[in-house]
Amino acid sequence: MSEKSMAASAKVPAGKVTESELLKQYGCGPVQFAGTANGLYERHLIFDNVIALEKTGARERFEAIARSVRDVLSQRWISTEDTYHYVNPKRAYYLSMEFLIGRSLSNNVTNLLLNDIVKQIAVQKHIDLLSMLEQEPDAGLGNGGLGRLAACFLDSMATMQLPAMGYGLRYEYGIFKQSIRDGWQHEQPDNWLRHPDPWEVARPQDMVEVRLNCSFEICGGSLRAINGQSSSLLGIPFDRPVVGYGGKTVNTLRLWAAAAPDYFDFRRFSSGDFVGALAETLTAESVTRVLYPDDTTSMGQGLRFIQEYFLVACSLADLVRRFRSNNADWNTLPEKVAIQLNDTHPSMAVPELMRILLDEAHLGWDVAWNITQKTLAYTNHTLLPEALEKWPLVWFERLLPRLLEIILEINRRLLSDVRGQFAGDEGRVERMSIVEEGDVRKIRMANLAIAGSHSTNGVAAIHSGLLRTVTVRDFAEMFPERFNNKTNGVTPRRWLLLANPMLANTITGAIGDGWITDFSQVDKLKPLADDKGFRETFLKAKRATKVQFADWLKSTSGQTVDPDSIFDCQVKRIHEYKRQLLNALRIVTLYNQLRTNPGLDMAPRTFFFAGKAAPAYHLAKVIIKFINNLAGTIDGDPAMRGRLKVIFLPDYCVSLAERLIPASDVSNQISTAGYEASGTSNMKFMMNGALTIGTRDGATIEMAEEAGEENFFLFGLTARQVADSRSWYNPHWHYDNDAETRSALDLIFSDYFSRYEPGVFAPLRNILLNRGDYYMHLADIKSYLEADRRLCGLYADRHEWARKAILNVAGSGKFSSDRTIAEYAGEIWQVRPCPVLCPV
Ligand SMILES: *Cc1c(COP(=O)(O)O)cnc(C)c1O
Repeated sequence: MSEKSMAASAKVPAGKVTESELLKQYGCGPVQFAGTANGLYERHLIFDNVIALEKTGARERFEAIARSVRDVLSQRWISTEDTYHYVNPKRAYYLSMEFLIGRSLSNNVTNLLLNDIVKQIAVQKHIDLLSMLEQEPDAGLGNGGLGRLAACFLDSMATMQLPAMGYGLRYEYGIFKQSIRDGWQHEQPDNWLRHPDPWEVARPQDMVEVRLNCSFEICGGSLRAINGQSSSLLGIPFDRPVVGYGGKTVNTLRLWAAAAPDYFDFRRFSSGDFVGALAETLTAESVTRVLYPDDTTSMGQGLRFIQEYFLVACSLADLVRRFRSNNADWNTLPEKVAIQLNDTHPSMAVPELMRILLDEAHLGWDVAWNITQKTLAYTNHTLLPEALEKWPLVWFERLLPRLLEIILEINRRLLSDVRGQFAGDEGRVERMSIVEEGDVRKIRMANLAIAGSHSTNGVAAIHSGLLRTVTVRDFAEMFPERFNNKTNGVTPRRWLLLANPMLANTITGAIGDGWITDFSQVDKLKPLADDKGFRETFLKAKRATKVQFADWLKSTSGQTVDPDSIFDCQVKRIHEYKRQLLNALRIVTLYNQLRTNPGLDMAPRTFFFAGKAAPAYHLAKVIIKFINNLAGTIDGDPAMRGRLKVIFLPDYCVSLAERLIPASDVSNQISTAGYEASGTSNMKFMMNGALTIGTRDGATIEMAEEAGEENFFLFGLTARQVADSRSWYNPHWHYDNDAETRSALDLIFSDYFSRYEPGVFAPLRNILLNRGDYYMHLADIKSYLEADRRLCGLYADRHEWARKAILNVAGSGKFSSDRTIAEYAGEIWQVRPCPVLCPV
């Protein structure tokens, strides 16, 4: 707390006043726009750039508008922190290696309720709003769902006026830019900070020092210590405003950048991969140079290990300092602080908080352990074994020996408790141990996170169930009270109000605008599904959005799509378990059907794919190549014109999702059942009135429950059936016995889609036939096509389609991240709203 903000909060009377009295007298309304916008904008435009007005371009105009908006919210941003300091409520801290924010300008303008004013100014100043908004790069500080969830949570926490803060890393390079050449993915670095970012505020006064036991270098992805030298890094915080809807609360996302103290002593390293190339010289700064571009494999790279510790060490030092500035007694930490760990990435928080409580607060072990467990909570995001983090024990030994000491003592006590409760069960002891024995001893980060926290949650009912009964069953048996579910959600502000104004207006016209902050109200749309007039309005809005998307696509890529065709989408990271390949097999089969039977009655369809593959994930890259070649072949076949079209949209990101999802008719959520923890794009599609064709996996199960299974197109094996058939499943049986599947595969393997690149799709044959089809594409293809036939047939009946789509929107109320955050706040954090008080 700076002295200046102390002074501001001092204007609110001290002493014993009840919260409601305070609120009555000092509670703030929305930020008022003082009518100084013109002056602000022009001042920023000219003086920030020291440039003549007529020489300013779109980029300068964007920066000037963004800075004006920041000026408008800055007083409220200060008052928010002042209020938290004054009221001293329990605060929630969300620790995440990823925040996939996307753009901020239009979001902040919307949440501040400034849309009309900004439009007015744009007209007065002859600013083309749309092209100006395009100037803002996506803040792509995340890979996919996990990072986007963190961003949606920030929006909900601010909107619900919760005293909360996000902590992350300020990567200089976010998720790579994807381009497609000859059908193959190419990666380019995402230098999103090339231009100064107008939203961030550097806070060098809040710098923290992070000590490491030794200097080190990184060689071929592994970490090598340089003998006996200790070193430290500086963490410089960069704050970004998080504006709640209605502009009452402005919370903070604090991102750490690494810097070197004067005596810094790191050496060069190189590892020849994507990350290594960007961080070729290991200076202190390279610790936060680049986001690791893989969200499903833990590659065990040294730099990532340091990144994770750096996030934890900076954030804990910062929040403990804030706690200490208001509270004398360390024992009250769990009454004032709740820390949520977004996956195991920040789970070094367990030993780090113990270190602080033992070595800095000088508490005894039992007291420190009790405080640590009560303060921390852990969210698991995946059941994929390759994603579970395990770090070599020697890295802790070399870099963080004190943390290792603490981890080993935690483990000693844990295992002694296990032996106490399950005498003679050494298998259980081995499975629950935080240390994995073997040639290379490893620390199991999930075990550490579960042991050191009071709450472990999965992100959809099925996922939490599998976590409890399969993945970490031993822990659930020993500590059943720690396990719970928090089904994910997405913010309806960004994903409906902002992304789909035509549908948003349609909804508001029908049920009022209460849904924006209370999304359960969309269930008032249910009776309107039977209202012919409303269906017409709904269909008109969807069509207008499709036309808008088609126009954008034409103007940016030259490609033409028919807005009267079914827009059928699968957009997400490319991964075998998400089964983009199953979708492609469906399209090959439909293509075969149309080739053999040109008179077939089938609605015209446009299939959209988008998604990035991890740079080292070769098979995922072959899948991208296949989709592109499929698109090219179908495009080159005149018989398919007006019937089938396939488009792979490059560089999937939040901004592209915001354009495409509102224009979609069909959402593909077709992961092998039991492998998608929750999914969140499934929810974005649902609230935008798309119909889902999908497997019974993740949150899709709960979505179908909410909307009614009769309004969903579910198919395929259940998670139980997948698990039970693992031992005897044989893809060859399907190849031999299902003629349609066989012709589709034969067409691919005959190089029909790769005439000039023979053999390029051999890896697909390998995966699907020779190596057992681990994700069971061939088991599900028939029922996928059957569901597809029903779905496609329904499209001919526009009103019946609209009825189902409206019932989907009406059933999507549960999938607002406001509901998710209300559950975290009430059941895990015990954090309550703390409305901002305005100094008089
Ligand atoms: C929502 C979102 C995701 C998550 O998609 P899933 O289908 O749930 O994997 C990934 N990337 C972006 C850009 C998103 O907006």
